[in-house]
Amino acid sequence: MTRSTAEPLRTCIGCRRTAARSELLRLVRDPEGAQRVIVDPRRRLPGRGAWLHPDGACLKQAVKRRAFQRAFRGPVDATPVDDYFGD
Ligand SMILES: [Zn+2]
Repeated sequence: MTRSTAEPLRTCIGCRRTAARSELLRLVRDPEGAQRVIVDPRRRLPGRGAWLHPDGACLKQAVKRRAFQRAFRGPVDATPVDDYFGD
């Protein structure tokens, strides 16, 4: 039996390309209940997640195609994600 080193693949909601989970940022709806999306750097927060390359270009694409709304089934504020990329 060979031990697989393959990681689960996830799709970036920006560029729609698949990548290993470790290459993507996990985004979740704020567990505090706000209608906003936050970055989950430790991938530990509960709830429905979405995945995005840590790349401003992917974020832009995701915003443009309203990928956040689709991933989180409703209008959400992605400002915290924007801030995360901000500096
Ligand atoms: Zn991407």
